[in-house]
Amino acid sequence: MSLTDIQTRLETAARRHNRVADDIHLIAVSKVQPLDRVEAVLGEGQRVFGENRVQEAQGKWPSFQDQFDDIELHLIGPLQSNKTRAAMELFDVIHTVDRSRLAQAMARVADETGACPEIFVQVNTGDETQKAGCSLQETDALIAECRALGLPLKGLMCIPPVHETPSLHFALLAKIAAQNGLDGLSMGMSSDFEDAIAQGATHIRVGSAIFGDRAYA
Ligand SMILES: *Cc1c(COP(=O)(O)O)cnc(C)c1O
Repeated sequence: MSLTDIQTRLETAARRHNRVADDIHLIAVSKVQPLDRVEAVLGEGQRVFGENRVQEAQGKWPSFQDQFDDIELHLIGPLQSNKTRAAMELFDVIHTVDRSRLAQAMARVADETGACPEIFVQVNTGDETQKAGCSLQETDALIAECRALGLPLKGLMCIPPVHETPSLHFALLAKIAAQNGLDGLSMGMSSDFEDAIAQGATHIRVGSAIFGDRAYA
């Protein structure tokens, strides 16, 4: 696989489901990838990247930002409250707002600095105890709170349970977003992004299909 293959598959899936390909943002998930692979994908023109750890991203992206214009960084991994400020400084979009305390911490930093990344509320659609994301019962309240705090809320994000049919979770997320008047849907990874596009994804997060397998040390 490569970047152009994924773009072609994105466009094909969009056409098949009567969607406009430009409405679907491809986030290239570069976590753990060797820098030369990331640089190669930058060289191919990709500018939107996803990382799941603040510290790793802080070590990697400032120098790429010096070399390449218009890089857009998305945080797609869990955010600890003590890293809120650092995350807000580095990232353009944060997909993992999953609790009231974090939303409040972000609002405080935003008030102070006058700037705030766009946010997605992460929903634990599978109600998995070990997984990040706000519970289904708490989602409407968290959405309302983000709005009341004035955070720039774009939509909802989910990571389906590994052993369940992703489409069911994508459809559920789309339904909750529609009920709450939200357009943004961050869902779909290497193995299921076409299903996510079928269910209305606006942001797909694709890592290994672009960069190759991640080699964890
Ligand atoms: C790693 C990761 C991805 C990308 O996964 P691939 O299977 O490599 O495409 C997408 N979303 C999140 C939240 C991730 O942590």
